[in-house]
Amino acid sequence: MEKHKIVVLGAGESGVGAAILAQQKGYDVFVSDAGTIKDAYKTMLDEHHLPWEEGQHTMERILDAHECVKSPGIPETAPVVQALAERGVPIIGELEFAARYLKGQTICITGSNGKTTTTSLVYYILQKAGFQVGLGGNIGKSLALQVAQGEEHEWTVLEVSSFQLDTMYDFRADISILLNITPDHLDRYGYVMQRYVDSKMRIIRNQRRQDCFIYWRDDEYAEADLGKRRAEGNVVTALPFTDEPQSGSLGYSRDGMMRIDVPEGLTPRLEDGAQLSIPEGELSIPGRHNVRNCLAAAMAALAAGVDADTVKECLRTFPGVEHRLEYVCESHGVRYVNDSKATNVDACHVALEAQTTPVVLIVGGTDKGNDYTTLFPLIARKCRAIVFLGADNSTLHRAFDAFASEHGIALADTHSMVDCVKASAQLAQEGDTVLLSPCCASFDLFQNMGHRGRLFKEETRKL
Ligand code: ADP
Repeated sequence: MEKHKIVVLGAGESGVGAAILAQQKGYDVFVSDAGTIKDAYKTMLDEHHLPWEEGQHTMERILDAHECVKSPGIPETAPVVQALAERGVPIIGELEFAARYLKGQTICITGSNGKTTTTSLVYYILQKAGFQVGLGGNIGKSLALQVAQGEEHEWTVLEVSSFQLDTMYDFRADISILLNITPDHLDRYGYVMQRYVDSKMRIIRNQRRQDCFIYWRDDEYAEADLGKRRAEGNVVTALPFTDEPQSGSLGYSRDGMMRIDVPEGLTPRLEDGAQLSIPEGELSIPGRHNVRNCLAAAMAALAAGVDADTVKECLRTFPGVEHRLEYVCESHGVRYVNDSKATNVDACHVALEAQTTPVVLIVGGTDKGNDYTTLFPLIARKCRAIVFLGADNSTLHRAFDAFASEHGIALADTHSMVDCVKASAQLAQEGDTVLLSPCCASFDLFQNMGHRGRLFKEETRKL
């Protein structure tokens, strides 16, 4: 009988992992990448004697496949993907493929913002609780490679992007979290917001009554869309949370306390009448948005069977994630905070909200068509100065100049991290916070947001 053929499109972390797993499971595998494959991945492919090509797609060989595992970075509109679809070749993602062989249960986290923070926090809590737990999805080693290497976990915590969700069909999460849905990546969804919402809502696909769906009740889209999925027959147990003092949600916030109250008979996963409450000032990560992330993570951990005391202790001790409102240092009475991961306006909004001192805000980079006006009320209230950091700051000038002069907010224009940190230090006064929360991608001046954040830390530590 002819061997089942799999073509893997894109040889990054997920593609290489999927190729290795597919080979191990007896498939005939071919890896094709239209760009350049990183040396480390070429070595891995060669070590496994996996055939690969780069800088091209040999269509004849690709179209011969029975199934395709596509990297999340390749859009559905790419000609190679279209050709496969026309031929009727099923196109799935690495998570869908790896999950076929995954043992144990999964907690899957999606949302426009807060995924990495919440995923890391859930993982941290389960680890501290002594669970045998793995971490994957958009974070670290690909799930497929973990499965191929025989790593078996009681629980796997997965960060899932909308692009990954788009290629998930039979996958089912035991516990899912939807943090929020705000416009992002719309270029990949034909600029139709509902298509992006549909993508995020795929997180509850296949979930059963005994599974849980934890979501932010105040999100503009989630609750209404859940109603639609219910009408289509989805029966997942819904666990809504809010950071408002409202009842009717499992998790909420009242009088400065983060609370979770489990009603009777909700789900066998949660003990009837169980409670958790913790002063928000004791949470290790700052800001309203992190209250929401903590609520979501805590509810997931409780649903996975962690006791409330352990969850509380972990909320106090979680070290946070690099480049997300990361405290760097204090110099001449000024605090420096690295939020390089804030690559959209919404992320900068929550970062500013979390600040309790006057702020010198650093913004700029590759703009995805940002509407900065939504930040104006907050900036007017909180910012002493704004420092532009980009190869070309003309869009920022157009957006901010008139507003800044009207509100007496100083502006500085810089094109390198060295100059940016110097300008920020000059503009800041004792007691202020200098906040790098750029609203933009970093590719104009830096390799990626990590590189931008590391340089910021390096320069500020020299002050
Ligand atoms: P993601 O993995 O979804 O990009 P991260 O946890 O890396 O999310 O956080 C990215 C940025 O988004 C942070 O710098 C923070 O400013 C912002 N953010 C984090 N959590 C939330 C949230 N729940 N709601 C809105 N913004 C958030």
